[in-house]
Amino acid sequence: MRIKGDQQTARAMNRRLMLNLLRRAGALSRAELAQRSGLSPAAVTFVMADLLAEGLVTEGEAVRGAGGPGTGGRRPIPVSVNYAARLTIGMKLTAGGLEAVLADLSTAPLQRIFHPIPDTRPETVVAHVARVVRALVPEAATRAARLVGVGLALPGSYDHGRGHCLRLARFGWQDVPLGQMLAAAVDVPVWVDNDVNAFALAQHLFGAGQSHGNLLAVAVGAGLGAAFLTEGAVHRGARGGAGEIGHITIDPMGPLCECGRRGCAQVYWSEPAITARFPGDLTAALAACDPGAEALIDEAAAGLGRLLAPVLAVTDPDVVILGGEGVRFGERFRAGLQAAAHALCYDARPPVIFDWQADSWSRGAAALAAQHFFDFEAERLFAPRQALN
Ligand SMILES: [Zn+2]
Repeated sequence: MRIKGDQQTARAMNRRLMLNLLRRAGALSRAELAQRSGLSPAAVTFVMADLLAEGLVTEGEAVRGAGGPGTGGRRPIPVSVNYAARLTIGMKLTAGGLEAVLADLSTAPLQRIFHPIPDTRPETVVAHVARVVRALVPEAATRAARLVGVGLALPGSYDHGRGHCLRLARFGWQDVPLGQMLAAAVDVPVWVDNDVNAFALAQHLFGAGQSHGNLLAVAVGAGLGAAFLTEGAVHRGARGGAGEIGHITIDPMGPLCECGRRGCAQVYWSEPAITARFPGDLTAALAACDPGAEALIDEAAAGLGRLLAPVLAVTDPDVVILGGEGVRFGERFRAGLQAAAHALCYDARPPVIFDWQADSWSRGAAALAAQHFFDFEAERLFAPRQALN
């Protein structure tokens, strides 16, 4: 029986290898897959037959002329991932409700909804997560069995080992057994993570971070957070608290933060904190080159750059991807932040780039589910019991 187990493990690993090569390259022929993976052409053909039968990959048109006249070689047929073969649901928890998407495996949205919630108690949130799953799935009743799972992104720290939300200061949560509560209420697998971690993961799988092994994602949103991803894995730290740069104390006598302490970075440089310091419409004033608005953005960018410099010195990422609602402050903000961070760094001077759309939070959450499709554990997700009743 041991041998059978090993064979299944090898098969799962080969599937994972093929799917990830195709995810990164777009489309490859079987010969290219064999070359890049180091597997024998026979092994590649074997894995591809399985993936084709399950509808997880599709074959394109044979590349014209590639065989060449008189070469006798077969024209190579490109194979690519069929992202439409499975569905994911992504939800981002905000104070007002759940921003949700029904998406394919590349997190491309098929449907978006905003589902308001009456309060932010854990029981209420879990009940409404279940409602959103029911609301999105009957839309595609025949597609229910193709749902690989749900990703839930929240603005707090999450302990994956125990399935507990350790702290979500904005809602007053402390050590909430969220994993257990969700498993009891929702009939499909739910993966929970910090929202900036989810954003970083989506960037790594499908976004601007796809070509980088090390990336730092920074979100300037309702809060302020960072996530460092190295060799495809989010660095979570010992307590799930890695990347909480928004609660680094800038001034111990400063304004009160949602965490109960004073003068945290996010009381100065979160998107609402910056916006609140301007009398009027900040975006419009920036578009009109208002000197007061520009001075405010320069000051905020310089402050955030100072905050990021030691993070860059420790992590030395290939790239910093800036997201969150603060992206609306525009190029002046990005350039100012990059210049301030670089000025304080010795060698670690990565480009700071924007990669953000209005639905990036919920698509990041969908990536939490999509990731498992491309992972080793993917095998078990296709068991019939995962179908939604
Ligand atoms: Zn704080």
